[in-house]
Amino acid sequence: MEKEKIIKAGKIASEVKSWVKPKVKKGVPLLELAETIEKKIHELKGGIAFPVNLSINEYAAHYTPSYDDTSVAQGLMKVDFGVEVDGWIADNSFSVDLENSETNKELIRSTEEALKNAEEILSSSTTLGKVGEAIEKTIRSYGFNVIANLSGHSMEQYDLHAGITVPNVDNNSQTEFDEGLYAIEPFATDGKGLIHEGRKGNIFILQKDKNTRDPLGREILEFVKDNYGSLPFASRWVVKEFGARAILALNHLEGEGILYQYPILTEEKGKLVAQSENTFLIEKDNVVNTSK
Ligand code: MN
Ligand code: MN
Repeated sequence: MEKEKIIKAGKIASEVKSWVKPKVKKGVPLLELAETIEKKIHELKGGIAFPVNLSINEYAAHYTPSYDDTSVAQGLMKVDFGVEVDGWIADNSFSVDLENSETNKELIRSTEEALKNAEEILSSSTTLGKVGEAIEKTIRSYGFNVIANLSGHSMEQYDLHAGITVPNVDNNSQTEFDEGLYAIEPFATDGKGLIHEGRKGNIFILQKDKNTRDPLGREILEFVKDNYGSLPFASRWVVKEFGARAILALNHLEGEGILYQYPILTEEKGKLVAQSENTFLIEKDNVVNTSK
């Protein structure tokens, strides 16, 4: 039954989160951290729903280490990862202050409290606008801005962004949640509250399955379809299978419009972004925070 799978994915996410939190320390290589989380998900018999996102300071989301990454954990870091069981996803994240900075800590607190306040009013008849309002009010009460153009989302089997947007601001939407699976993810910043697309972040997704002339590209495309289907994947996973020559082939596939590489979502340079995220199964008369 799908509910069992949704709950199981959430339990694994939750367990990985408590396990990894003490390991997130300043100076730890991001590559090591991402791989240790992904390995743990597998050990607990979950599938990886998307590459571990490790986004620092003004980077809000969509950075995963490359195969030869040399960057290390520092600053205000968001750890965002997803677990899937038969395609049913638990999407969750936490933020860590690695600088002993009061601003970082307050930003993190504001998103944690915003998520908690959203959860408190969540039900199948709550409107999307009300949740946005709760999030916005909470983060503003800390004196920070909400990132208005980042939002939560509905999820379906093997579909991370299934169409419904859960706003982080009061957009007045009267649409009710109804039953379903949702990720809610407040983002707070000391910047303007608007992210833009920066450089590419090593996370790909299959965009359009069509013929490619490059033999290695063809092989990689088959591998991607077999292993990741409609879910995002990391270039380093493909490098593990095909070697470093895969990078050029991935870039070609991207150029041909077959693959899409996500840009890093970023605030202005020098600004800070915190995020908290959980997945909620909303039933007619019940709400379960699956990844708590
Ligand atoms: Mn997430
Ligand atoms: Mn999400």
